[in-house]
Parts: sequence; C-alpha cells; structure tokens
Amino acid sequence: MRAMVLQRVGERLVTEERPDPIPGPGQIRLRIEACGVCRTDLHVVDGDLPDPKLPIVPGHEIVGRVEAAGAGVTLPIGARVGVPWLGRTCGHCPYCLRARENLCDAPLFTGYTRDGGFATHTIAEAAYAFPLDDSLDAVATAPLLCAGLIGWRSLKAAGDAGTVGLYGFGAAAHIVAQVCRWQGRRVFAFTRPGDEAGQAFARAMGADWAGGSDERPPAPLDAAILFAPVGALVPAALAALRKGGRVVCGGIHMSDIPGFPYRLLWEERSLVSVANLTRADGEEFLALAPRIPVRSTTRAYPLEQANEALDDLRAGRLEGAAVIVPEGNRQ
Ligand SMILES: [Zn+2]
Ligand SMILES: [Zn+2]
Repeated sequence: MRAMVLQRVGERLVTEERPDPIPGPGQIRLRIEACGVCRTDLHVVDGDLPDPKLPIVPGHEIVGRVEAAGAGVTLPIGARVGVPWLGRTCGHCPYCLRARENLCDAPLFTGYTRDGGFATHTIAEAAYAFPLDDSLDAVATAPLLCAGLIGWRSLKAAGDAGTVGLYGFGAAAHIVAQVCRWQGRRVFAFTRPGDEAGQAFARAMGADWAGGSDERPPAPLDAAILFAPVGALVPAALAALRKGGRVVCGGIHMSDIPGFPYRLLWEERSLVSVANLTRADGEEFLALAPRIPVRSTTRAYPLEQANEALDDLRAGRLEGAAVIVPEGNRQ
C-alpha cells in the first residue's frame, strides 16, 4: 500500500510504501476509493490538536471497499463502506453506556489516533463503518462522512430554529444549507468579509442571504452554527441572535474567544459545542442525504497531491470539499 504520512506536526506529508495491513478480529482492510479532506486534518497537521499518533496517516472521510476481513466480521468482501472520524469507542465508559459514545473516555479517532484515509488502503473497525450503496459516487459521498455528519449533529443541536446562520461556508456548511432548505428553514451564510465568490456559492447552495461575518443579517437568527475556527465569531454570532437563540460551535478547534459583554448571552441565549459523532448520527444522516438529495461540490486530488489539497483548504481556495482519490482504486 501507499500512504501520505505526517512524520512530525507542521511538516509536509511524505509518500510511503508499506506492506498491506492485516485486519485483526472485528477489523476490515479497505481498498480506498476516495477520502475527503476536512479542516480537522489541517488541525492535526498544523499541531493544533494534542497528542496525535505519530507518524500518522490523516484523513477521516473514507469511502472504500472491503478487501480483507478479520475474525467475526460479517461484511462481505467487496462491500462498500464509509469510515468516519469515530474509529472506535470503549463501549463501557459512562458516555458509551448513555448513548453518548461521541464523548467516549477511550476512543480512537481515524486519521488522528489511528491511521486514516490519505492512502490506498487502511484498517477500520467493521462495527464503526457505515454500509454504503454501490450506486453512490465515491468522490461525491466522501465529504458526507464528516462535513455531512458533523454538520448534521450541529444542526440537530440548533433545535427547531427556523432561521439558521452558518458562519464559514466550506464543506460542512454547503451540505447543511441543502438540508436546511429541504427542511424549510431559512439560511443566512456568513463568509470572510469581501469573499464575494464564497457568498455567491452560498446563495447557489440555497442560502437566502449571504454576506461578510462583519455584517448584520437581514433578520435576527434563531440559531447560528460556527464552522470557521475563529473565536471572534462567537460574540459576533451571539449579537446576531434573537432572544432565546443558540450558537453551536461545530469545529474541533477554534482560536481563543475574546471577552464580550454579558448582555450578548443574556435573555436565555446559549452557547454550546458539538464534539465528534455517534454511529446513530451517521446512520440518520446517510439515510437522509439521498432523499434530499444532498449534492456535494468537490475538487479531486491524486493521493500524491494531498499536501496541495491541504494548502488549498488552508488558504480558502476551495469551493466545497477537497477529496483525495488514489489512482487506480476508483471504481
Ligand atoms: Zn472532519
Ligand atoms: Zn467509552
């Protein structure tokens, strides 16, 4: 197998040839068809997240086919599956026992604490992989595995908000906007100030209004979801909420949140974060997405250009999602 490997945080990924991994009990080896690039991959590579396994193969939006299976696996060889960020949970901590496995005390995260999908092959736990239909396009489906799932969990945290503000219009927001539209919610999209191309893209994805994050929306928000990793957006979003509204932070890392006057939070506004996903989130969203249907906007990169994909995401040069495609593996 071939993989793009991070040896030390802050460095470029390097190409490595490795022997094909052997799946253990309950595990599968996937031949990877596509793997989306998520902002969390940038946080891993840039060293924003503590204690990654090093060296690590990043990537946690994996679409692939089962090529080999360990003992006890019922998925057939050749089955197509999706592998998300939640790689494994312990099953017995207080969070796992209370249907909050996203907060497990001893989890493994794909592409962070176990090797992920910027590779031709990877190992995953069969019990944490989602069966995917053969008819789906692998590249278009990959971004659903994190941008879609975390977006979905964030939208659920926003409750029954009729008017939803999306701050940062990248891979997750462009999916959530389509879900909101289908559910009959109104979407206001906030981009970097002056990003007119991003605002036009947001309107094309169903946003009723799009503007800079320094602008006031045309009406108060019932909820705001923050996908941009910018702490200064928290008080900005609180200021755009109606009474009783909620700000949901959807990212795993954010710059520090500046101090703000209590009146922005008062009147029963709330501020919450969303962490990881449960398998139930994945099952719900992957069943819902084809009914809408969610159409992801993607740019494909060969495996060997994973660094360029990360650069483009970091620089804000992408519309929608970057997807790594190992040549020869796509079917
Ligand atoms: Zn992600
Ligand atoms: Zn647990």
